[in-house]
Amino acid sequence: MLLNMRHIIPVLVLALFAAACTKQDSAPHPPPRQLTVVTTLFPLYDFARTVGGERVRVSLLLPPGVEAHSFQPRPDDALRIRAADVFVYTNQYMEPWAIKFARSAGGNQLLLVDSGAGVTFLRGGRPEQHDEHDGHGHGAGMDPHIWLDFANAQIMVRSIEAALAAKDPANSAYYAANATALVDRLKALDLRFTETLSSCRHRTFLHGGHYAFGYLARRYGLTYASAAAVNADAEPTPSTLVALVKRVKMEGLKYIFSEELLSPRISEMIARETGISVLMLHGAHNISTEDFTRGTTFLELMSRNLENLRIGLQCSEQSSQQR
Ligand SMILES: [Zn+2]
Repeated sequence: MLLNMRHIIPVLVLALFAAACTKQDSAPHPPPRQLTVVTTLFPLYDFARTVGGERVRVSLLLPPGVEAHSFQPRPDDALRIRAADVFVYTNQYMEPWAIKFARSAGGNQLLLVDSGAGVTFLRGGRPEQHDEHDGHGHGAGMDPHIWLDFANAQIMVRSIEAALAAKDPANSAYYAANATALVDRLKALDLRFTETLSSCRHRTFLHGGHYAFGYLARRYGLTYASAAAVNADAEPTPSTLVALVKRVKMEGLKYIFSEELLSPRISEMIARETGISVLMLHGAHNISTEDFTRGTTFLELMSRNLENLRIGLQCSEQSSQQR
């Protein structure tokens, strides 16, 4: 059902937008004091506000709490992009609608930033013992969750820095200093993950959600299996659930992970069946309204993940408690 809507909604959006434009064009556009940046997903929003500091106004296209894979822009999103200087999206696999949408909605001045440029993509993972269903026909492509490898996250930060500097060269040294500070924190985070995850009883983690942590697993040499494919709207099959239950027992795992913003129903079902516990692993696609209001950062979400991975994989204490 979602599939059909995906094709219909962008057409509707463009039609409505065309109507809105004719009215807008007569309105004066005062030159902005700050750069206006619109980003799709939460990590981009968080990176852009950190790099841009007080010289940039950043907004998150996805309303807090909204599931990212099924998101489609609406007419008022087109108006926001119309007024923006920079539009940052994750990559063509995460937001296949982004380029076309931003080109038709954006003004002549709009700079489109593919934050995934320069990143090496991994193939989209498949659910545990999957059958022929592979995410409704679009699961066979590349894995869009590049931000969960913190080396990729550093590339994304630099892409954003380059875009801000291109649009506002007078402040390029300021953006460069902020970007370097953020990259340093991402490097430190990466090191904490490496150290903590090197001394664990288990090397496998199971996830009751969609296949979002392939990049993270690969970076730290872990084995990862999920209930559903790389798109969050793919429902796990009964055979997948049976396979995950078997895997929990075979590996002697004590925890299964659930994802943010979606029901932990699958994880809870497996946990009940096997007598284990559920821990949250935050994919950071988007953020809850509560975390958004509180100003929670990507680094904070990842620190929570590391603490839960440490518990779930039974790693020794060492550095995971530090910020
Ligand atoms: Zn995802």
